[in-house]
Parts: sequence; C-alpha cells; structure tokens
Amino acid sequence: MIPAAFDYEAPGSVEEVLQLLAGAGDREVKLLAGGQSLLPVLRMRLAAPDLVVDLGRVPGLRGVRDDGDAIVIGAMTTHDDVTREPLIRQHALLLSHAAQTVADPQVRHRGTFGGSLAHADPAGDLLAPALALGAEFVIAGPSGRRTVLAADFFTDLFATAIGAGELLVEVRVPKYTGWGAHYEKFNVVAQAWSIVGVAAAVRTDGGTIAQARVALTNMGLVPIRAIGVEQALIGRPASAETIRAAAVRASEGTAPMGDANADEDYRRHLATVLVGRAVLAAVGG
Ligand SMILES: Cc1cc2nc3c(=O)[nH]c(=O)nc-3n(C[C@H](O)[C@H](O)[C@H](O)COP(=O)(O)OP(=O)(O)OC[C@H]3O[C@@H](n4cnc5c(N)ncnc54)[C@H](O)[C@@H]3O)c2cc1C
Repeated sequence: MIPAAFDYEAPGSVEEVLQLLAGAGDREVKLLAGGQSLLPVLRMRLAAPDLVVDLGRVPGLRGVRDDGDAIVIGAMTTHDDVTREPLIRQHALLLSHAAQTVADPQVRHRGTFGGSLAHADPAGDLLAPALALGAEFVIAGPSGRRTVLAADFFTDLFATAIGAGELLVEVRVPKYTGWGAHYEKFNVVAQAWSIVGVAAAVRTDGGTIAQARVALTNMGLVPIRAIGVEQALIGRPASAETIRAAAVRASEGTAPMGDANADEDYRRHLATVLVGRAVLAAVGG
C-alpha cells in the first residue's frame, strides 16, 4: 500500500530536530531512522503522521566512541556497524552477537541501533541485550539531555520513556571486557524476529561463574532480566550441571503472550531450553 501523504523534513542538527518537534503543535510527528520498521507501518497505514522528520542528515548520531568505563553508541549506528565495530566486540560482545541475528544484510545496513530500541518491539533482538548489560539511554529534549536506565526505558508494548518532543541520541554501555557472551534466538523461519531470545553475558574466574547477566526477549511486553537464573549461576562452577539447574528458573517473573507462533507454555519451555544454550555458549562450553 502507499502511505498517507505527509510533510517531510531532513534537519541538519539535533537542535533543529528538537525545534521541529516543538513547533509541531497538534500535528503528529514521526522520526525516521533506518525506516525498517517505520516504513512498513506507514505503508500498512497503521500510522499516518502529518510530518516525518528524517534523522539521516543529523551529524554525530552515528558511530561508537570509548568513554572511559563505558562505550557510547550513537542512535543512528546501523546494526551492521554494531556487528563489526571493534569497540563493541571488545567491550560489549553480547550486542555484536545479537545484532548479527537481526534480519538480513539489507535490513542490517539500513536499520539502526537507536531505531530498534525506540521502536521497542517485544520480539526485537537488541532490547534484552541492552537490558542485560545495564545500558543507559541518553534522550535529548527541549530542556536538555537526560539519561534513563534500561530497566526504566522500556515501559510497555512498543512504548518507551522517550516523550513527545524528545529523541534518543545515544546509548552508554558499561564495559564488559573479557566477559563471555551469547545471544540465542529461536525462530521458525530464517531472518525473522525472535519467538523467544536469550541474552547472556558471563564472567568466569578459575572455572567459577563470578558474574552473570541474563535477559529474555519476547517473554513479556518488555524485555525481562532473568534474575533467578543469574542468582543460580553466580558463585557456582561453570558446568553443564550448574547451567541446567539455573535454566529451570528461566520463566520466573515472565508473562509471555500467546500468538500464532507459540502459546505461553511453549514460550516458557523455550526460555528454559534457550537459557541453557545461551549460558553454556557464553561460558565457552
Ligand atoms: C524484513 C525485516 C526483518 C526484520 N527482522 C528483525 C529481526 O529479526 N530482529 C529485530 O530485532 N528486528 C528486525 N527487524 C526490524 C529492524 O531491526 C529495524 O531496523 C528496527 O526495528 C527499527 O530500526 P530503524 O532504524 O529502521 O527505525 P525506524 O523504522 O526508522 O523507526 C522505528 C521507530 O523508532 C522511532 N525512532 C527511530 N529512531 C529514533 C530516535 N533516535 N529517537 C526516537 N525515536 C526514534 C521512529 O519514529 C519509529 O517510530 C526487521 C525488519 C524488517 C523490515
């Protein structure tokens, strides 16, 4: 289908984006990043904004930089950049792994890290890794910039802490240098969203699991930290037996939805199996 008509602006700075958002009044505005989620939504006429503001010409929103104890990923950094960027591979390997599982090369070259997180699809593959790693979201608005923790950023189905008149500019990720990491995704056709996904990052010390961060994709309206699994891993030997016992706690605190792909019980079963696989791979088993 052809989208409903809209006005189009391509501003040249974050300040200009904010001015356009502030000046929109009652008109509905949509920000355009890679367009890989927004354009299908417009074409299906699930949204009909009056104005589309393209972030593609705003300098400084794409790229990754080292910021001491964290790396900072610009919102317009593409999925492909995330898979290849040496700083991410060195300090946040989990994100690199997860981005590799997103769609196909075409989508990964256009789709952006910030667009994925702002879209907040519960089946999106970058939300749980960002939550597991305790990422911080830097949001620009009329009164300056504010930082929101990942645990507070995803507020509901396709909803985030980004308010009207604001945009996501970058994401700070603490460094997990030397940690093992793996993103395990289950889907029935290649190059599709997760039916369930598991993001796992683990630090081992002399054969013992010293630290563990695990989060789940599509086990609720928002990504969920698997705290019970983490507790069952930390301080124990990095063995298949430990991991099997911890994985049993995968669905604690989850509220999976049923849909044409899987009902709630099947998703809980998948979470257990995939947590086992993800953690085993993360510890190098
Ligand atoms: C065929 C296909 C397969 C796919 N498979 C997968 C998959 O397996 N896993 C997966 O995770 N995703 C998948 N996707 C989605 C893909 O990852 C998109 O890139 C992503 O969801 C949105 O990123 P984008 O840059 O394209 O954002 P856009 O589509 O441009 O924007 C998405 C939404 O976020 C808002 N937005 C964008 N940037 C900002 C910002 N900086 N600040 C505030 N709001 C912003 C927009 O207004 C819009 O509402 C797939 C997409 C397609 C077309």
